[in-house]
Amino acid sequence: MSMLPPGSVLGIVGGGQLGRMSAIAAARLGYRAHILTTEADGPAAQVAHAVTLGAYDDHDALRRFAGAVDVITFEFENISADGLDLLSSLRPVHPAGAILRISQDRIAEKSFMGEHGIPVAPWHAVESRADLDRAADVLGYPFILKTTRLGYDGKGQARIHSPADLDHAFDTLRPHPLVAEGMIRFACEVSVMVARNERGDVSTFDVTENRHRNGILDISLAPARISPDLAAQARDLARRIATALGLVGLLGVEMFVDHDGSLRVNEIAPRPHNSGHWTMNACPVDQFEMHVRAVTGLPLPPAIRHSDAVMKNLIGPDDMALWPDIMATPHLLAHHYGKAEARPGRKMGHVNVIFPLGSLPGEFGVDAALGPLAAPADTNS
Ligand code: AMP
Repeated sequence: MSMLPPGSVLGIVGGGQLGRMSAIAAARLGYRAHILTTEADGPAAQVAHAVTLGAYDDHDALRRFAGAVDVITFEFENISADGLDLLSSLRPVHPAGAILRISQDRIAEKSFMGEHGIPVAPWHAVESRADLDRAADVLGYPFILKTTRLGYDGKGQARIHSPADLDHAFDTLRPHPLVAEGMIRFACEVSVMVARNERGDVSTFDVTENRHRNGILDISLAPARISPDLAAQARDLARRIATALGLVGLLGVEMFVDHDGSLRVNEIAPRPHNSGHWTMNACPVDQFEMHVRAVTGLPLPPAIRHSDAVMKNLIGPDDMALWPDIMATPHLLAHHYGKAEARPGRKMGHVNVIFPLGSLPGEFGVDAALGPLAAPADTNS
């Protein structure tokens, strides 16, 4: 694909915050974002050039959307196989449907990693109750049972501590098949954002260290506090995955740093990723611009980081109650997603704090830097 000229229309499937931030990046490069969404006033629609309202399996809406755009990308991967085929028959789609299908299905994802020599946690596909017994024998307790499709933010999974947990987990986790995974005693969780364009140029951002709360990403630190050698290995894994997939676009690769210092890939997401939001204030070209550049055929600059960074998600009504305080704290670089209703557990925005290169603070410093968003003091101590 040649470089799309400014004024062209970038079609984005999905109307959430990732689409919003991609649309803003597209506008900066002179493109117009056209959003396919079910929400007329959602985060992406609010900042877009145009919107097609419709469900992701509504073929009529998909046709109208494709007819109005020059190239199609995603901010949301759970579009049906049929819908993907239809879009791909009408316009260039990046990343390709085959990549979305791999990332939508944990069995396909882990099989792909195995075929390409990418390390993952030990795993077994579980189609029947007998498969689950066999998986338990091989993996030992505790282990994790996950749905194959549509899991996110820690939903659709259960920790299995003993044989007494098997029946309930097997019956409640739906749909089947499931995936049983060995429990990794990880030292930390990290991720790498990697972009690749059609010419095969690849850019990987620095490794991010991620901390979750209630199954949702809470804080990301960049760079991850791991050895330079391990960081180089993590970036190399991300590059290998992007190349093996033939990626055109952006991909988030989540990994565990095992207690023995080895890396294991947990999952991939072929779109901008929450753990890459720090790049918006710590990199000259952030993950959203890199995404837009990759799918519109622009050259990819190196993913340079000019600052160290901490990103904290703003989740639900409790964090949003602090918005006036955040606005009154100039070093908190805030990003609001424009969602009307702050429901518990809902991602409403994020803040970044940047530090001169090499001066990412330790625990207390991170907390102090977050000001009004610092973790509440432990009332028991
Ligand atoms: P996932 O839905 O696969 O991203 O998992 C959500 C979270 O559950 C991860 O970020 C980890 O904190 C934890 N987790 C998932 N799989 C494993 C595993 N095999 N071993 C240990 N922790 C895991």
